[in-house]
Amino acid sequence: MQIDHQSNAPQPAAIVPDVAAKDATATAQNAEFVNLVGLSREELTEAMTSIGQPAFRARQLWNWIYHRGETDFAKMSNLSKDFRAALTERFVVQRPAITVDRQSIDGTRKWLLKFPDGQEVESVHIPEEDRGTLCVSSQVGCTLTCKFCHTGTQKLVRNLTAAEIVGQVMNARDHLGEWPSPQDGRMLSNIVMMGMGEPLYNYENVAKALKIVMDSEGISISKRKITLSTAGVVPMIERCGQELGVSLAISLHAVTDELRNEIVPINKKYPIAQLMQACRDYPTLSNARRITFEYVMLKGINDSPADARALVKLIKGIPAKVNLIPFNPWPGAPYERSTDAAINAFSDIVFNAGYASPVRTPRGEDIMAACGQLKSESVKLRRSARDAAA
Ligand code: SAH
Repeated sequence: MQIDHQSNAPQPAAIVPDVAAKDATATAQNAEFVNLVGLSREELTEAMTSIGQPAFRARQLWNWIYHRGETDFAKMSNLSKDFRAALTERFVVQRPAITVDRQSIDGTRKWLLKFPDGQEVESVHIPEEDRGTLCVSSQVGCTLTCKFCHTGTQKLVRNLTAAEIVGQVMNARDHLGEWPSPQDGRMLSNIVMMGMGEPLYNYENVAKALKIVMDSEGISISKRKITLSTAGVVPMIERCGQELGVSLAISLHAVTDELRNEIVPINKKYPIAQLMQACRDYPTLSNARRITFEYVMLKGINDSPADARALVKLIKGIPAKVNLIPFNPWPGAPYERSTDAAINAFSDIVFNAGYASPVRTPRGEDIMAACGQLKSESVKLRRSARDAAA
């Protein structure tokens, strides 16, 4: 019995080429079936043309798949019987498999999703009074090795396909009972690309997926309700703003290159000054569409009043808000959470300088769903299962 497939995985953190991921999705159930989820409108039209159907069929299908959430061709009642039969022979509308579905006492819900190649990612739904946010993963694992983040300790990494990214949103919609796409009062109203992985290292697939999610004849979550978070892949930031127009969040976490090199190592490649310039140049930037700077509060490391003052100086002139994230611990983590007093003092300094500086309430801690904890539980479970079996 193979309990821990990860233990057989290649050891160095390396991106498995995209093509492997694509194949994995295509071979979903049977090599001959193609998953229609994750195809762009153009690709869906091509797929219909390939079976001799007129282009407008693609639009009908789009509505069934992304507006109504239907996965069974037989139930697509306004399509002719012959067309439905033809679809069944070649295509599937597939969701990722669910390995774990857990709900926190605070209502946060976490799904561990499994793809046909056995790799898994997590998505987290965070309900709030007036909205609900889905935290979506962009990669299996992450190559960035930020020191405070558990995902960065995971060895195997590959990019998710567009299908696997859209599949996370569709899975949440399934469970929240939000098909057809509601106009108002949605429990899934916002998306943050803040799950596992660095979205700007998988830009093409993330962009393709987000365009599907934003399409007004389908899932229809607007760019204003989508935030993409990056540790600072500077060369991709402008393109993200131009092509997608989504809100930008920057995982800053330190105000000097010396410290940021250590805790967010991508800083060695793209130092703070370059990152700040990319923020100033971000295409959709305005007071109404501010950049969010995320700042994890690490006790005695980056949480002094002097750090807060330096942060204010750094972001001067950028329409911004600063999200202070109390560090969420994980087994073996080298840091501790800042004290409430330090967090509040830090927040006051930033606020008094004219920036919103909310302290993010940790959500879903009891199910290891909080920021930076993703994937840890499944790894732990598999380890203990393996140990028990040994
Ligand atoms: N790679 C992207 C997307 C991941 S977002 C990025 O870095 O922005 C995940 C967010 O959670 C980031 O802001 C990250 O810095 C933060 N985070 C990671 N580990 C954390 C932890 N242990 N406690 C609190 N926040 C953490």
